[in-house]
Amino acid sequence: MWNKDSWQRWYKKNRQKKIDEVRQIGFRLRLEVLELLGNKCSRCGYNEDVRILHVDHVNDDGAAERRNIGSGNVLRKYIRDKILAGSCDYQLLCPNCNAIKEADRKGIVYSGRRFESCCPLQKKKSPEPKPRAFSNIVTEL
Ligand SMILES: [Zn+2]
Repeated sequence: MWNKDSWQRWYKKNRQKKIDEVRQIGFRLRLEVLELLGNKCSRCGYNEDVRILHVDHVNDDGAAERRNIGSGNVLRKYIRDKILAGSCDYQLLCPNCNAIKEADRKGIVYSGRRFESCCPLQKKKSPEPKPRAFSNIVTEL
């Protein structure tokens, strides 16, 4: 027969185990979503550490979805099932690309200048040609 003491003993003994189980389910769902979305940033291709990738709502309706569906594993399962059903409403973004997308969405500009929407990691992958040194230009004349 369960009473307050037996419940407290059970809770004290099993609390961490239950937390770990829920956490493992969350990790598994997140890994499935990452795999389904290609395990890399959809803008710059970053894939060195998938732990930092964000699951982005392409149409910027993540807040509404969280309000309607919930959060945590319920939301992860919902997103996984939606992708499996063929949805294209999600993409992976690295933190840089996600912040740039957010700044673009908000129309943030500095000194009247809109910055080119490009992740620094993407710039690293396809570097601009280096300007020629002045001495080389002089000798070519
Ligand atoms: Zn990126």
